[in-house]
Amino acid sequence: MTRALYYEDGTALTFDATVQEINGSEVVLDATAFYPEGGGQNGDVGRLTWAEGSAAVLDTRKDKATGLIWHRLEGPLPTVGTPIMGEVDAARRWRQMQRHSGEHLLAQAFRRVNPAFSVAAVGMRNPECTLDLEGDPAEMHVQAAEILLRETLGRTDLTLETPTVSEDDLHLYAPRRETKVRGQVRLVIFRDSAGEAFDVSACGGLHVPRASLAAPVVILRTERIRAGLTRVVFMAGEEAGEYLTRVYRDARTLAQGFSVPVDRVPERVAALSAERDVLKAEAAALRERLAGALLEAAPVETVNGLPVRCVTVDDLALLLPVLNAVPDGEVVLALAPGGRCGMARKHLDRHFTFSNHLVDVGAIFGRVLKAAGGKGGGKSEIAQGVTPQPDGFFAAIKEALAAFVFVRVPEPQPQPEYGQPFKKLSAPASGLEKTEIVGMLKPKPSNEA
Ligand SMILES: [Zn+2]
Repeated sequence: MTRALYYEDGTALTFDATVQEINGSEVVLDATAFYPEGGGQNGDVGRLTWAEGSAAVLDTRKDKATGLIWHRLEGPLPTVGTPIMGEVDAARRWRQMQRHSGEHLLAQAFRRVNPAFSVAAVGMRNPECTLDLEGDPAEMHVQAAEILLRETLGRTDLTLETPTVSEDDLHLYAPRRETKVRGQVRLVIFRDSAGEAFDVSACGGLHVPRASLAAPVVILRTERIRAGLTRVVFMAGEEAGEYLTRVYRDARTLAQGFSVPVDRVPERVAALSAERDVLKAEAAALRERLAGALLEAAPVETVNGLPVRCVTVDDLALLLPVLNAVPDGEVVLALAPGGRCGMARKHLDRHFTFSNHLVDVGAIFGRVLKAAGGKGGGKSEIAQGVTPQPDGFFAAIKEALAAFVFVRVPEPQPQPEYGQPFKKLSAPASGLEKTEIVGMLKPKPSNEA
C-alpha cells in the first residue's frame, strides 16, 4: 500500500520518496503526493526526478486490490530503490480541486433550493463539469441555485475539514448523499466561522482549503437526459473565470461590429433577426414573381397533346419556385446549376384523360434520373433530384412522357339557361372510355310567388 501524502497535506505538491516497484512504464513509490484517478476526479500529472534522470508522470491510478498507486511515466525509468523527488503539476491539480469543490457546493445549493434535487452522478474530467440531478429542476431553480451559491461564496468564509469518521457516527454529520463506503469514512465538510456546516459529503477527492477559492461556479446549460434526470453543465474556479472572460471578449467584438454597448447586443440581434425575416419574405416573393415570369417566357411544347415547358434557371433557389408556379393543366421541367432538376404537373386529371394510368411525376422522374445515373423522386405532382447528364434531362423526360397518350377533356360548356337541356358531351373517340352526360337541370328554386 502506498502512503497517500495528498491526504496528509493536500497543498504539499513536492515530496521525496523511493521507487518500490516497476511494471512496464509504471512505477510505484513508497509514498506519493500524486492523487490517483477516482471519484470523478482525474489522476495527477507532473514529474519525477532522480540523480541520473527525470521523467514526466502522465497519469496516476490506484490498484484497489493492493492499495498500490501507479505512476505512468514517459522518459527514462528509475530502478527499484532509487530515491526520487516528485513534483505534482500544481496548476492542473488546483483546477481539479476547484472543479471538485465546485461540484459539492453546487449540489448543496440545489439541495437547498429543493431537497428533491439530489445528485445521481457527477463528472469532473473536463473543464465543463456535469451534475446529474433528479427531480426535474426548471430554469428558475437553476438560477436560484446559482445565485444562492454565488452569494454564499461571496459573503461567507467556508473552510475545508476532512475528518475520517466511523460509519456508526455518520448520522452525527448528516452527509448530503448516502455512501457505500463502510468502516472508516472520509468526510469533506465546508463549514462557516460559526461552526455551521454548509455541505457534508463522504468523498475521497481533493478540495480547495476554502470554498470561495472554487468561485465562480457558473452554470452553462442544462440538458434533459431522460424523464426525471437533468444534467447541469457547469464550470468552476479559474476555468469558469477564463470562460466568462472569453465569452465577454467575443460579445464585445460583436457589439463593436454593431456599434452598440455590449448589453444592447441582444436587442440589436433581435432587430436584425426581425429584419432578416422581412427580407427573406421579400426575397421569396420576388423569386416567386421571377419564377412566374420565367415560366411565361418559356415556349410551350406539346408532347402527345400535353403542354410542357422547359425552364433553365441560373440560381438553385429558383428551382422550387419555378416548379411551384406550374400552370394548370401543364407540365414544367426545370434545370438548375449542378444538374439539380425537377418536374411538376398541375391538375392534369382535370384537363386530360390518359391512355393508361395517371401520370405519376415522382415515379417518371425517379426512373429517368436513375437511368441517367442520378437520383431523385417525389410525390405524384412534384419531384426533385440531381442528374449527372443535365444536357439530356429535358429530352429524357419528354421521351418518358411520350409513352402516354393525352386526350384533352373538353372545356366546360357555358352554363345553360335553367330549364334548358344539357348539350350532349362526349370525349373524342380514341378507344377510350366514353364520357356521356345527358340530363336536365332542375329549375332554380324561387321565392317569387
Ligand atoms: Zn467528492
